[in-house]
Amino acid sequence: MTIGVVGAGTMGAGIAQVAILGGCRVLLHDALDAALAKGRSRIAQSVSRAVERGHVQADAAEEALSRLESITHLTEMRDAEFIIEAAPEDLSLKQRLFAELDGFADPGAILATNTSSLSITAIAGATTRPDRVVGMHFFNPVPAMALVEVVAGQRTDPGVVDETMAVARRLGKTPVRAKDTPGFIVNRIARHFSLEALRILGEGRVTYDQIDRVVKGAGRFRMGPFELMDLIGIDVNFAVSRSVYEAFFHDPRFRPHPIQQRMVESGLLGRKTGRGFYEYPDNPKG
Ligand code: NAD
Repeated sequence: MTIGVVGAGTMGAGIAQVAILGGCRVLLHDALDAALAKGRSRIAQSVSRAVERGHVQADAAEEALSRLESITHLTEMRDAEFIIEAAPEDLSLKQRLFAELDGFADPGAILATNTSSLSITAIAGATTRPDRVVGMHFFNPVPAMALVEVVAGQRTDPGVVDETMAVARRLGKTPVRAKDTPGFIVNRIARHFSLEALRILGEGRVTYDQIDRVVKGAGRFRMGPFELMDLIGIDVNFAVSRSVYEAFFHDPRFRPHPIQQRMVESGLLGRKTGRGFYEYPDNPKG
């Protein structure tokens, strides 16, 4: 099976990695050549770590990497049977990309979006084939996280949902069906994990690291909310917060926090830029 992946950032690179390890040929594209090269090298590093840990045989890893092709022009995806978009969380950008994909992709291809929070129906509306557009929401880091939410838009063909569930299983994931509601299942719950933590921080009585320690130490969570926001990317988390807030017609329960906005404005985006709430000296420039 040939899978096209649009966007070679945090998620696109992870999705491409699980797809090549799942035996698929992957055509990886990014709008920026540097991002494409970086995504490719992250995949190679991550696959070689998997070999070192004994999760993947060396020859299987080599074969998998030979199935990864970087492409400069989106139209080079025209023979892909399944396309997964992992570009930034911006509705108009995703609509533009889907209109473009619709222009050349095989009529039988499935067009999937990895959006965390945008309406699948609204993205599908930019195409002439809303029945073949579906949400396929992976979690970060993709190689480690089993869950994939498969989201039907208003006009998605039920057969397309079934095929997407099968592709997710082929990539070693555990898919669940979700409705096209803001934040689907996990991100709707996760809004409160980050937004309440930001509100507590904003009240000024405790520090972010105290909050993380309490949540992990006593609450037994694997990561605290601030560590998780740094991992996700403060910009991505802010974009998701804004879109869920909009989608719930400004329900105050989902109101984004000014701390997120200030961090985005000042370029403190988390691990990918070397600094968010915490510092990551090994990744000074992202
Ligand atoms: P990212 O910023 O790491 O990567 C996005 C990539 O898309 C960048 O490399 C950028 O150069 C590229 N890009 C921008 N415009 C493009 C275009 N027109 N065509 C092709 N590539 C383009 O972002 P990410 O964290 O990988 O998020 C991507 C999507 O996945 C978003 O919709 C996000 O909400 C979703 N998502 C993110 C996470 C997370 O934890 N980061 C988890 C689940 C889903």
